[in-house]
Amino acid sequence: MSDNFQSYVFADPANGDLSADFRRIPAYLIAEQIILDKTRDNSLEGEGHMPGSQAEKLYTQDIDRWRELDVNGVTFRSGRIVEVSSDLAECRCPHCNTVIDAESENFEAVSAALDRFDNEGIDLLSCPACSRETKLSDWDFSDALVVGRHKVTFWNWPRLKPDLAHRFEQISGLKCHYIEGRI
Ligand SMILES: [Zn+2]
Repeated sequence: MSDNFQSYVFADPANGDLSADFRRIPAYLIAEQIILDKTRDNSLEGEGHMPGSQAEKLYTQDIDRWRELDVNGVTFRSGRIVEVSSDLAECRCPHCNTVIDAESENFEAVSAALDRFDNEGIDLLSCPACSRETKLSDWDFSDALVVGRHKVTFWNWPRLKPDLAHRFEQISGLKCHYIEGRI
């Protein structure tokens, strides 16, 4: 059986300490008893937090026996986050809105920028269409990929409430993108 994930990826703040801002997310989830402080080997990326007694606060419809699954943890990761859902088909410049097809020559600049972020943590992309330099994490990769600095991932949880990314933004003050996938 494959496992599904629902991830929330947080981008750089305009200023301030991203780590301190992001730490409000696990603090909130633990305080609300949505997850436990306790972790175990329950995700595809190592130890995760176990679901708490109030986990259902985050979703609208329950699914059978998900609490009994071996993989149902909640993980927090920091660093150079590139969360991938599916093959990238196109992306869109946040400045000029030009769509760049992954098969096109212009996409080479995008690939190079993704590699640079992966290797050096440089979050910048000069748009091949308008030449404007913007943050890679501001680009729209049409739900196939999200770039950021922190993430929280829910493994095999029921579908989470649609306003959760917005709530996480309010709690952390950081821009937050939702992405889901199956492994
Ligand atoms: Zn552009």
